[in-house]
Amino acid sequence: MTEDLWQRGCERLAAELPEQQFNTWIRPLQAAAVADSASGVVASLLVPNRFKLDWIRNQYGGRIEAVLSELAGKPVRLEINLAPRDGAVRAAPLSTPASHVVAANDGSIAFKPRVAASEPLLVPVNGANHSPSPSAAAVSRHRLNLGLTFSNLVPGRANQMARTAALHVAGAPGQMYNPLFIYGGVGLGKTHLMNAVGNALLSDRPDARVLYLHAEQFITDVVKNYQRKTFDELKAKYHSLDLLLIDDVQFFAGKERTQEEFFNAFEALLAKKAHIIMTSDTYPKGLVDIDERLTSRFDAGLTVAIEPPELEMRVAILMKKAEAEGTPMPEDVAFFVAKNVRANVRELEGALRKILAYSRFSQKDISIALARDALKDLLSIQNRQIGVENIQKTVADFYKIKIADMYSKKRPASIARPRQIAMYLAKEMTQKSLPEIGELFGGRDHTTVLHAVRKISAERQKNPELNQQLHVLEQTLKG
Ligand code: ADP
Ligand code: MG
Repeated sequence: MTEDLWQRGCERLAAELPEQQFNTWIRPLQAAAVADSASGVVASLLVPNRFKLDWIRNQYGGRIEAVLSELAGKPVRLEINLAPRDGAVRAAPLSTPASHVVAANDGSIAFKPRVAASEPLLVPVNGANHSPSPSAAAVSRHRLNLGLTFSNLVPGRANQMARTAALHVAGAPGQMYNPLFIYGGVGLGKTHLMNAVGNALLSDRPDARVLYLHAEQFITDVVKNYQRKTFDELKAKYHSLDLLLIDDVQFFAGKERTQEEFFNAFEALLAKKAHIIMTSDTYPKGLVDIDERLTSRFDAGLTVAIEPPELEMRVAILMKKAEAEGTPMPEDVAFFVAKNVRANVRELEGALRKILAYSRFSQKDISIALARDALKDLLSIQNRQIGVENIQKTVADFYKIKIADMYSKKRPASIARPRQIAMYLAKEMTQKSLPEIGELFGGRDHTTVLHAVRKISAERQKNPELNQQLHVLEQTLKG
């Protein structure tokens, strides 16, 4: 029953999913057990690593459950677990470094086992899984930063496309999205994402030939080999890779010889279906002083942007990073910081470091007041006047309504109340008169504003929860 249910599930999924997706994600899965009890059936699957686990759960979990339930004729709950570290379960056969190039050449890599469907799809590999333990700044021989992984990259709207594409590449390099070109401003996670792909691929295939390089390192390499006239070495090194990660390609500007060598490597790698990921501060056509022959190729796979993170993502990043530092940050503090530090993730990290240091030094718990002290310099630069618009935006963010609802005529309490709170704060924190405020809230009468101000200020006296919320909002607005 066990094997059979999964087998039949696979057949069904194979029929409904695109072949490539099925071969990449579903086919290598192994049904570890199917337990049948009165409350239903639990099917558990084993996957080799965490990023596959997340991906399969998110992308296919629901569908797999539905298919198995239908076939079993009763509810089947899916459990996906990591294969045990010892004798880790891996896709078979594991290619040796020598056979590996062949494997990459014909496009069938470890994810697509070259075995007949009737053979076991997964076999244990003894002791083949001694990956170095990741520590924050550890750098591998692949020059990857081992601390930059998918699991500590907070997902959000700002990086959704780039992250999804990167996960695909990590799961099936050389197939779709080649080359992958990721662009965006500083400190938004380009280098992180790129390293995550390399680390994920190596956790699946420790023998994969991966190299991460900043564009400047590539330039240095070209210059060195140029002086020594050892271009064959250069070619041998780059052209044999499975995955080349080149960071900040805008640095190639004006470097003609480098561009030429990069072009050669690029063509050689694509021809044998090795994957190339590049990052840049701008999209390919926006690159200056780089040969059009190259930029047009940069654009030939998939080009995705990483945007600055929106408020909620900034809150999530702060909380996750604080947690990782062993000092959880209360949500209201994270909100205060995220609201005031907007530019990019690197700045958020800087703010967090300051707050943690300040808290340790002063031996005080993390609070808004403490964060404000710790970030005094940073916040005073902004030194902005509080405007009604800013109040509306902050309150809307806080209560998760649209800014437009501040001007709209809608009356449900979930909207009317935040609007009244915003009016109250506008009166308390700006010099505007009641009619002026009414005007700024969609042309409301000054008596409406007065009513809101009285109501909220009276309620504030009696309702500690409201008082606390107003406190957070005031602190946030004062910056
Ligand atoms: P870029 O290469 O775009 O300039 P980095 O990849 O160096 O940016 O990111 C800057 C810092 O922010 C790094 O420490 C990185 O780990 C962190 N970071 C960026 N995006 C995220 C994210 N979504 N979740 C967690 N950390 C992030
Ligand atoms: Mg970078």
